Amino acid sequence: MADSGWSDSFCAELTVRLVAVLAEARSAATLAHAVAETADAAEAVSTGREMACAAGCSHCCVLNVAVLLPEALRIADWLQEKLPPDELLALQKILEGHRTWGRWMDDEERIARHVTCPMLDGAGCCIIYPVRPLACRGVTSLDSERCKDAHAPAINDEVPLVPTDLLRRAAYDDGFMALAQALQFHGIDHRSIELGTGVLAFLVAPGCRELLLGGTRLPAELWRF
Ligand code: SF4
Repeated sequence: MADSGWSDSFCAELTVRLVAVLAEARSAATLAHAVAETADAAEAVSTGREMACAAGCSHCCVLNVAVLLPEALRIADWLQEKLPPDELLALQKILEGHRTWGRWMDDEERIARHVTCPMLDGAGCCIIYPVRPLACRGVTSLDSERCKDAHAPAINDEVPLVPTDLLRRAAYDDGFMALAQALQFHGIDHRSIELGTGVLAFLVAPGCRELLLGGTRLPAELWRF
C-alpha cells in the first residue's frame, strides 16, 4: 500500500505546480498543459513498475470513467484534430446514444451487459489512447487473465480479485485531486463528469468551452437525465 505521507506531499507539491501552470494565459492550451503535467507527474512516480496493461488491452474498458472538465476539453480538441469529419460525426452519434443510457449504469450492470466505453473501437482499441483519462491510466492490473475474468459477464458468483499496483493508482488519484484543487484555486469549474458526456459537450454544445475558460460553471443539465 502506498504510504499516506508520501501521497499527501505528492498531491500538495503537484497542486502548487499546477496552480503555477494555470496562472498562464487562460486558454484550452493552458488547460491541456495542466492535464499533461498531471499525467507526467503521476507517470514519473510509476515508471518502470510492473503492470500487465498495454495499448490494445481493453479488459477494464467496461468500467465507468469520470474526468475533470479540462480532460474532456483536451480529448474533444484532440478528436477534432485527428478524426475526419465523417468519423467525428459517427463518434458523436455513439456518444449521444451512450449519454442516454450507458452512463447511468453502475459498473456491475455494465459488466453484466458488457457495455463498453464509447471510446473503444471495433478492434478493441482505445481511440483516444494518447490523451486517455487520468482514471484510465491509474487503473492497472498485474495479471491480465484475472483482469479479463473480473470484467467479463459473470458465469458464477465468484468474481476474481485483480492484483493491482496500488502506488500507481494512488499517484493518479492524487494527480486527479491536485488538478481539481488547482482548478478550484483559479476559479475554474473543477467538477468531474462522465467521460463520454463531457467530451460530447465540448464537441457539440455551444458555449461550453467559453464557459469553462471564462470561469463559469457549465450547465447543470449536463449532469442530469
Ligand atoms: S477511455 Fe480508453 S482506456 Fe479509458 S475506458 Fe475508454 S477505451 Fe478504455
